[in-house]
Amino acid sequence: MSTASAAGNVVPVHGGFADGSGGMRPARWRPAARAVQPMATGAASGHDCDAVVVGGGPAGAAAAARLATEGFTTVLVDRAIFPRDKVCGDFVGPAALSELADLGVTGTEAFSATNAIGDCALHVDGDQLGVLAIPQVGGLPAYGRVIPRLQLDAWILDAAQRAGATVLHGRKATTIEQAPDAVTVHGHSAAGPWHLRTRLLVGADGSNSIIARALRGTVPPRQDRILAVRAYFDDVGGPADQADICLRSDSFPGYSWLFPAGGGQANVGVGMLVSTYPQTSRNLRELLLRLIAADAAMRHRLGGARMDGKVLGCPLTTYNPRLPLVGDRVMLVGDAAGLINPLNGEGIQYALHSARWAADVASGSLSSDRLDTASLHRYQQHVQHSLGQDMAFSRLVVQLIRNRHLNPVWLRAPGIIASRAKTDPDYAYRVGCVVTGLVPADRRLGLGLAAKTAGQAMISIRSGAPKHSPGHSGPSGRPAPAPFRNNVGGTAEPGLPSREFGDWAAGVGRAVTELIFQLTHAKFTRSRNEGHWAGSAPAGRQNQSRHGSPSQGGPCQRSPAGNRQASRKDRA
Ligand SMILES: Cc1cc2nc3c(=O)[nH]c(=O)nc-3n(C[C@H](O)[C@H](O)[C@H](O)COP(=O)(O)OP(=O)(O)OC[C@H]3O[C@@H](n4cnc5c(N)ncnc54)[C@H](O)[C@@H]3O)c2cc1C
Repeated sequence: MSTASAAGNVVPVHGGFADGSGGMRPARWRPAARAVQPMATGAASGHDCDAVVVGGGPAGAAAAARLATEGFTTVLVDRAIFPRDKVCGDFVGPAALSELADLGVTGTEAFSATNAIGDCALHVDGDQLGVLAIPQVGGLPAYGRVIPRLQLDAWILDAAQRAGATVLHGRKATTIEQAPDAVTVHGHSAAGPWHLRTRLLVGADGSNSIIARALRGTVPPRQDRILAVRAYFDDVGGPADQADICLRSDSFPGYSWLFPAGGGQANVGVGMLVSTYPQTSRNLRELLLRLIAADAAMRHRLGGARMDGKVLGCPLTTYNPRLPLVGDRVMLVGDAAGLINPLNGEGIQYALHSARWAADVASGSLSSDRLDTASLHRYQQHVQHSLGQDMAFSRLVVQLIRNRHLNPVWLRAPGIIASRAKTDPDYAYRVGCVVTGLVPADRRLGLGLAAKTAGQAMISIRSGAPKHSPGHSGPSGRPAPAPFRNNVGGTAEPGLPSREFGDWAAGVGRAVTELIFQLTHAKFTRSRNEGHWAGSAPAGRQNQSRHGSPSQGGPCQRSPAGNRQASRKDRA
């Protein structure tokens, strides 16, 4: 656990920082050459450090760890005092686990004791459609972990401190001031105002980022917002290594989850697109409690469980490729950059990836002292090349399911996918990859396949086929529910007011255009820069690159059955 510092005065010194407690010295501590307390606003002389990172979540702590490792004087400020909790589902997927291993976070007994998840069960209206195994991709683990953020974030922050970053808790950043040769971050703490003048600012301050707002001059569009709430439960039933995802016709396109945390505990929550559920997070809290009471799959596991603490919520901002991630001497990482997969709300892996990519580019730019937008733009390109296709695919799916009048179509799709996955291991593997965000969605599942699934769903509605796979019942053993009734008035016929339909169709058009652009761009870039991405993976795991070629041990090199057995032992 990290040692929480008192919110004492900031005492910037050339090449390092001391706080009043004396417990926060960077590993490469140097005696103070110059003490300023606090730095005067607008002071022209020198920089307090090479990089200031605002935000100590996974993105900020990982970025600080990597910059400090490269020898740059790095100061991380967070408004909270760590260890602090963060509202989250706590699911850490295989790609995120790999990043954590690279940061040296995974080698402790406490880390190994966290609960491993190998399977994910999908339910629609309480019926279990199937159980997907988390696939083995390259050298990544074939499992995820559920790690309470109170622990996870403190462990990554410890890694940053061990690498030499100075961590200052209890300091809220409020404004930034850009000059040609520096950025000054202004803020306040219990001890009063503070200022830090730095060569580079990394904005890692989460989904309500003030750094992103300063850089972009605006708040994220409402279309890009998700609202999610979660609660912890004790005495949860069912397999400890199985996560559950539940879709329901009365709350779609939202979904709820149950992620077992070990020891009979579980993180249970629900997420909704703000634009399709325009009420407050209080209503979402009520929705979660209603779902838990009404959904057979949830009741199956939570029948004898007790809620521990409150239902807490938090907004999320999903990825929008049109918004900038860099400016002069400023970079955004993690949620501040909007790096949330709109399909599943996952963000920890993207927070950790983006921290590494940003630190790579920042290291070169700090060394050459070229910190203008154009020089830092390489980071934005890297994000775009690495995540653009996955995010564009997810945005298209999310835009399609925004049309709640087509819920009958969308809610049949999981049944069709699950039926095929039961008989086709390769298909199951591809679906597992998409669900866990392991490889570019278009290459694994394919737009054609997605369109075919939607088409099949539409045909099955027209022909009056049963909603889910034949002969399937819910965990309670009850028969499949009555013919589909949707949440907006009981009609299964698509039909939207023409203006709403026009807006939705225009959104689909934009999402399709974006995906086509990403596919074309990626193809062009791949043929031009062969090997570029494989070379930028963390040292020692190049063969895990999401962009590596199959023959080099990339995503296609797997043995679902064999690897799964090995990984089960591995995660025990
Ligand atoms: C309900 C819910 C469930 C989720 N479930 C999952 C999941 O299961 N798996 C997954 O991968 N992702 C999940 N996510 C997303 C995940 O929580 C985020 O993607 C992740 O936390 C991003 O990390 P970050 O470091 O970018 O931001 P954060 O973790 O939000 O960290 C930001 C930090 O910045 C600090 N800060 C903010 N403003 C300031 C300021 N002005 N000055 C100083 N410090 C500041 C905050 O105190 C905080 O410590 C979920 C999100 C929600 C809301």
